[in-house]
Amino acid sequence: MTNPFRSLPSVSELLEATELADVRRSVPHDSLVAALRRELDRARSDIAAGRPVAPTSSDLLASAIASLQIDLRPSLRTVLNATGIVLHTNLGRAPMAESAAHAAYDAARGYLNLELDLATGERSSRQNAVRAGICRLTGAEAATAVNNCAAATVIVLRALAAGKEVIVSRGQLIEIGGSFRIPEILAVSGATLREVGTTNITRAADYEKAIGPNTGAIMRVHASNYRVRGFTHSATIDELVAIGRKHGVPVIDDVGSGAAVDFAALGFPDEPLVGDGIRAGADVVLFSGDKLLGGPQAGIIAGKRRWIDAIEKDPFMRAVRLDKMALAALEATLAHYRDPAQALSEVPVLRMLTTPIKDLRHRCERLAERIRVLDGIAAVEILDDTAYVGGGSLPDQAIPTIVLAVTAKDLSEDEFTRRLRVGEPAVLARIRNGRVLFDLRAVFPAQEDALVSAIQTAVHGSP
Ligand SMILES: *Cc1c(COP(=O)(O)O)cnc(C)c1O
Repeated sequence: MTNPFRSLPSVSELLEATELADVRRSVPHDSLVAALRRELDRARSDIAAGRPVAPTSSDLLASAIASLQIDLRPSLRTVLNATGIVLHTNLGRAPMAESAAHAAYDAARGYLNLELDLATGERSSRQNAVRAGICRLTGAEAATAVNNCAAATVIVLRALAAGKEVIVSRGQLIEIGGSFRIPEILAVSGATLREVGTTNITRAADYEKAIGPNTGAIMRVHASNYRVRGFTHSATIDELVAIGRKHGVPVIDDVGSGAAVDFAALGFPDEPLVGDGIRAGADVVLFSGDKLLGGPQAGIIAGKRRWIDAIEKDPFMRAVRLDKMALAALEATLAHYRDPAQALSEVPVLRMLTTPIKDLRHRCERLAERIRVLDGIAAVEILDDTAYVGGGSLPDQAIPTIVLAVTAKDLSEDEFTRRLRVGEPAVLARIRNGRVLFDLRAVFPAQEDALVSAIQTAVHGSP
């Protein structure tokens, strides 16, 4: 019998293999050599442990290529979001409209007139790209945008109230998550928090009583991710504006989610529109670009020109300004809102949130047939379920939905979802009562084939 150690090829023999032609182009030589050595070492220890025959060269190459492909995968990868949570902070919140993604792509790849007025050849402001769109959407006379709504809150408070008191209801001292807590954000801005009212009840009179010589602003914060129910009261924006006017104190309205189409008509009552605060006379309104607006990560600031000017003059603006890709994407997103019907069809977040149940059921039925026949699948059912908007918006708002409930033959639901998560593409699903649930609401129709093959790979073997 031949000695199996001797039948192992050498690294240089393996390096000659035609199978490596593609890999050689994308992988540095040293990494390739290291991967081949790893495979040879593993083969040697297998032989030492009693494996009678050496793996063939093509086995060794196949494992080396597979492990290199895993090593070379970027850490940020596409995820199929089958959780039903449309704005999932861990999954990057809003998927952008095609036009917005293209605008970001073009901005990324080349040069653009970011701070140049092409008509005059003079230097201009990068904010011009989004000003008109924000003003159109909110009815404000002036607008600007920064990196996210947290940054918007800080820079607005600096401009309006640094060194002064900001009056906020105790019921609105919220934490959005990821260390965005209103009291801490206020401290960072250099303003002082003046809490008024109680957790459940804050009346207009509570704000008025707190006004003194050192009051910088009144701020209303949308309790984006929780609700107080029962015996509750909060002052309306109209009341706050009236108090602000009477005492010469500016009013800030942090609406958070940024609903810009009539959400009440779509079945989501209680969500303030981004224009409501401006119409009521608030001095500054803030909201996120990547929540219900469905654009890039951004903090949008709309309001009176004098405050917007002060914000843009703040040296801190430089630290929180948007980059060219986000600006291009935001401009393109805002353009869809010229026509609300177009926004509903082109902005994925709006499209997903308003997909009718019957469409989802139809998609589920077609996919169920394809999944049922896969090896390793025990059962596929179609069940009624509940989806959430997520992303610190509409916390109460359960949307009725339809899910595919899949059980694998020889796989626990935990192992099934783990394999889906580490697969290619990664799939995020939910577990309920021993079944793995796939909600198609936030899965693009064009991703359905990939979803079926990801399920197939997951039930077949460990990737
Ligand atoms: C989400 C939210 C923020 C933070 O917005 P980011 O864009 O995540 O920084 C601030 N205020 C309110 C009311 C919010 O809902």
